[in-house]
Amino acid sequence: MSDIRNVIVIGSGPAGYTAALYTARAQLKPLVFGGAIFVGGALTTTTEVENFPGFPEGIDGPVLMENMRAQAEKFGAEMIDDDIVAVDLTGDIKTVTDTAGTVHRAHAVIVATGSGYRKLGLPNEDALSGRGVSWCATCDGFFFRDRDIVVVGGGDTAMEEATFLTRFARSVTVVHRRSTLRASQVMQNRAFSDDKISFAFDSEIAEIKEKDSKLSGVLLRDVFTGETRDLDVTGLFIAIGHDPRTELFKGQLDLDSTGYLKVAAPSTRTSLPGVFGAGDVVDHTYRQAITAAASGCQAALDAERYLAALA
Ligand code: FAD
Repeated sequence: MSDIRNVIVIGSGPAGYTAALYTARAQLKPLVFGGAIFVGGALTTTTEVENFPGFPEGIDGPVLMENMRAQAEKFGAEMIDDDIVAVDLTGDIKTVTDTAGTVHRAHAVIVATGSGYRKLGLPNEDALSGRGVSWCATCDGFFFRDRDIVVVGGGDTAMEEATFLTRFARSVTVVHRRSTLRASQVMQNRAFSDDKISFAFDSEIAEIKEKDSKLSGVLLRDVFTGETRDLDVTGLFIAIGHDPRTELFKGQLDLDSTGYLKVAAPSTRTSLPGVFGAGDVVDHTYRQAITAAASGCQAALDAERYLAALA
């Protein structure tokens, strides 16, 4: 059985690394589980990040995450790039189990497991992420000035993304599998009244086309007739939802109806003492690197105070 750590952080995105940095500088010697294959989190799947403060020229996503990791390690954070496959967070001593079956113990746990964007499941989709394919208009819209773009989805998020993208794009085509939208009436009205937005109903993306490692177009398919047509676009925004990574915590921590981890805002306290939540696993509203990092800081400060009260 391992020693009892002060704090274990689960996740190595901006939330996890920031929580690691703050708890390390507070001399708490955090142990960080960064995941087996997704070390560095969502930003490692993109190229240029232009909206993280402090980098006027922008910074490559994977480089930003390597820097965050190095900064936390410099102050004593210990990193293990493995998945946690089981947790018991109910007692005063929390346990987390890695893929080798080793049980790690701590007085406090910070959950920063993020959330995953739903994908279309098409070849090229991942390879062209940050090269024409995006899941975040706030993050990437600026790169698509005067371009023709397609947005996939029929809910509020898709309408919001499409409307936002008209600030930059020459045209936005919303592709939706059904003949009516799921979005609220007000969001629909806004999109319908925008001259730059057109709609391809009863349609789906059949193929993502690539040229010179960039998105060069999509093939649309009518879901009823099977008929296909080319759409000449250089941007594809996928807005069909996201899933928080909370499977591990079901039955122990309170989750909301969509599976997000509930915290007692404005704190990061979850429903169990000594367990804190940070980043996109908690937040279905802002979902940015800076907001994830900020809540990682808050979780670290909450954990510090919790541990100080135990002493
Ligand atoms: P994540 O970054 O998702 O990290 C979650 C971490 O948890 C990962 O390290 C994963 O390995 C780990 N994990 C999950 N489950 C386990 C487990 N069981 N055991 C161990 N570890 C686990 N935001 C911006 O501000 N600017 C941008 O330009 C921008 N561009 C983006 C481009 C793309 C393609 C994507 C997908 C997102 C982009 N975002 C951008 C959003 C930003 O990346 C996220 O808001 C941010 O990464 C969320 O941070 P997080 O730490 O909460 O989670």
